[in-house]
Amino acid sequence: MIINNKKFKLLLQASEINSVVEEVAERMNSSLKNENPLFLVVLNGAFMFAADLMKKITIDCELSFIKVSSYEGTSSTSSLKQILGLEENIEGRTIVIIEDIIDTGFTIETIINQLQQKKPAAIQIATLLYKPDAFCKKFSVDYIAKSVPNEFLVGYGLDYNGRGRNLAAIYIADK
Ligand code: 5GP
Ligand code: MG
Repeated sequence: MIINNKKFKLLLQASEINSVVEEVAERMNSSLKNENPLFLVVLNGAFMFAADLMKKITIDCELSFIKVSSYEGTSSTSSLKQILGLEENIEGRTIVIIEDIIDTGFTIETIINQLQQKKPAAIQIATLLYKPDAFCKKFSVDYIAKSVPNEFLVGYGLDYNGRGRNLAAIYIADK
C-alpha cells in the first residue's frame, strides 16, 4: 500500500485492533470503577482509538480533549510543548491520558508535568501503541493496547504527512 509515495504493509487489521482495545476497556472498567475518571484524549492522533475505547467503557466517567502544540525554541534542538484546550478543573481528579502512540515518551512526559501542576489526585496513561525499543523515560504506562516495533506506523488515527488517519487498520513502513 502506498501513502504519499511511501510503501507500507499491514501490521494490525481492524479485528485485531478491536480485540486489544476491548482488553484495555475491560481492565479500565474494573480498575477505575469507583474513580469517576476524566479521560483526556490527545488530539489529533488518538481520536479513533478514543472513540472505539469509550464505546466499550461502561463506568461513570467524563471525557475531554486536549492538543499539544509544539514550537521550536530559540536554540535549535529544544522544542517546547504546551497543552491547549484543557478547560476542566482537574484538582483532586483521577486523570487518564489517552494517546495514540508512545515512542520516546517525551510528549507524554511533558503532558504529565504540565497536568501535575494542576494537582490532580492521580494521572494514568493509556496508549494504543507503545514502542518499547524507543521509550527512554522513567514513568510507567498503565494501559498499553499493543507493543509495536520501532518503525514508522500509519492508520487508525496516525498520519503520514497528514494522510492515512482514516484507515481502519494500522500499517508499518516497508523498507
Ligand atoms: P514521543 O514524544 O513519545 O517520542 O512521540 C509521540 C508522538 O510522536 C505521537 O503522539 C505521534 O504523534 C508521533 N509518533 C511517534 N511514532 C509515530 C509513528 O510511528 N507514526 C506516526 N504517525 N506518528 C508517530
Ligand atoms: Mg499522539
